Amino acid sequence: VRIGAVTAGQQSESIHRANLSAIMRTLHEHGSRTRSELVLATGLTRSTIRLLVAELVVGGFATERPATLDGTPGRPSPLVVLNPTGAVVIALEIAVDSLAAAVVGLGGEVAAHIREALPPERTSLDEVVTALAALAARVTTAIPAESQVIGYGVAVVGVVRRSDGMVSMAPNLGWRDQPLGERLAQVLEPRRPIIVANESDLAALAELRRGAGVGYDDLILIWGSVGVGGGIVVGGEALIGADGYSGEVGHIPVDPDGLPCRCGSNGCWETVVGSGALLRRAGQEPDSGAPSVDAVRRAAERGDPTAMAAFAETGRWLGIGLAGLINVLDPRLVLLGGRLAGSFPFVLSTLEAELDRRVQRAIRHLVKVIPATLGPDAPLLGAAELALDTLIDDPVAWLRDRAATVEAISA
Ligand SMILES: [Zn+2]
Repeated sequence: VRIGAVTAGQQSESIHRANLSAIMRTLHEHGSRTRSELVLATGLTRSTIRLLVAELVVGGFATERPATLDGTPGRPSPLVVLNPTGAVVIALEIAVDSLAAAVVGLGGEVAAHIREALPPERTSLDEVVTALAALAARVTTAIPAESQVIGYGVAVVGVVRRSDGMVSMAPNLGWRDQPLGERLAQVLEPRRPIIVANESDLAALAELRRGAGVGYDDLILIWGSVGVGGGIVVGGEALIGADGYSGEVGHIPVDPDGLPCRCGSNGCWETVVGSGALLRRAGQEPDSGAPSVDAVRRAAERGDPTAMAAFAETGRWLGIGLAGLINVLDPRLVLLGGRLAGSFPFVLSTLEAELDRRVQRAIRHLVKVIPATLGPDAPLLGAAELALDTLIDDPVAWLRDRAATVEAISA
C-alpha cells in the first residue's frame, strides 16, 4: 500500500462511521424514528439500517420497540429509540453570578441539574474550579451504573480558546489569560475529554437544536447578561473562528467617542445595549445588577415612561448593531436570549425601526427577530450538546470502548 493511499478497508470503515453517526444524529436531534423513517432520513438501504441499528442496540445506545404502522409505505417498521442513559455527559457552566452542573443523556435528556449562586468575591480561578468540581461530583451521583460517561462540556462567560480552554478575557470574573481547561483537567475525573466554549456560542447551539432555532440553518443569537455576547450559526454550523474566539459582538465598536468598555476599548456595542446602559438610562446605578433590571422591566410593564424610554433607547442601539450583523451574515433568524429575552416586548419596535432603515432591502423582510426559548440554561444545555457530539460524530470509537469495558468486567 502506497503511503497516503486509502485502502478499500479504510474507506469502508470511514463510510461505516459516517452512516452510524448519521443515524445517531437523526435520533438525537429529532427523536425516535422507525427504521423506515431512518431509511428516508439517511438515504441508506433497509438492510444497512437494520445492521447499524443492531450495533447501536448491542452497544447500549438504542433500543428497538415492536413494529407499528407509521404511515410510510410497506410493512410495519420497528421504532428505534435512543437510550438516554446509554451515554451521558456532564455539562458545567460558569455564568456571571452562578455556577451550574447537569447530567445530560442522549436525546438531550436532563437527568440531574444544580445551579448555585456565585458570590462576586469568590470568582478567582481556584475558587471557581473548586466549586465547579464539587457541583460536578454532586450531579455525578445521578449517573446510572450502566451509563457510558463521554466527557465534560463547559460553558464560560468569557472569551475562550476551544483547543485548551484558555480564557483570554472574562471581565465579569476579573479574569485575563486564565488556564481554565488545564485546571479543570486536574480536578475532574481524568481521562474524560473536557471541552470549554463561550456561553453565547453554546446558547446558540442549544437554541438551534432544541429551542427557537429548530429548522433554521442561519441564525444569530444575542445573549445579554452584564455584557453582551453572540452566537452565530451559518449553514447549520457554528461560526467560531480559527481559535474559537469569534462572536464577540459585544465589542463591535459603535461609538468612537463612547463610554469605556470592560474590554479596555471604548464605545463598544455592549456599552450601549448592556444592562449597565439600560440602568443608567432608567436613572439607576449601572452596576446594580439583575434585581434592578427586573425592577425596570416591571416598571415598563406598568407603563412607567422613564423605564419605557430606557428600553426604547436600548432597542434603538440593538437595531443599529444588528443591522450591521444582518447585512454581513444574511441570517433568517435573530434570537434575543439571556436577559434580553425578558426585554423583548419593550425593545422590539425601536429595534425593528432601525432594521427597516439600515438592513439591505433584499433581505430585510426575510429576517425574523424573536426571543430565545430555552431560558437561562441555554449555555449549559449547549455545553451538553457539544460534549455529546464527541460520541455522535464518531460512535464507532465508543462502541469499541464499550466492548473493551464489557470484556474487562467479564474477565
Ligand atoms: Zn469592549
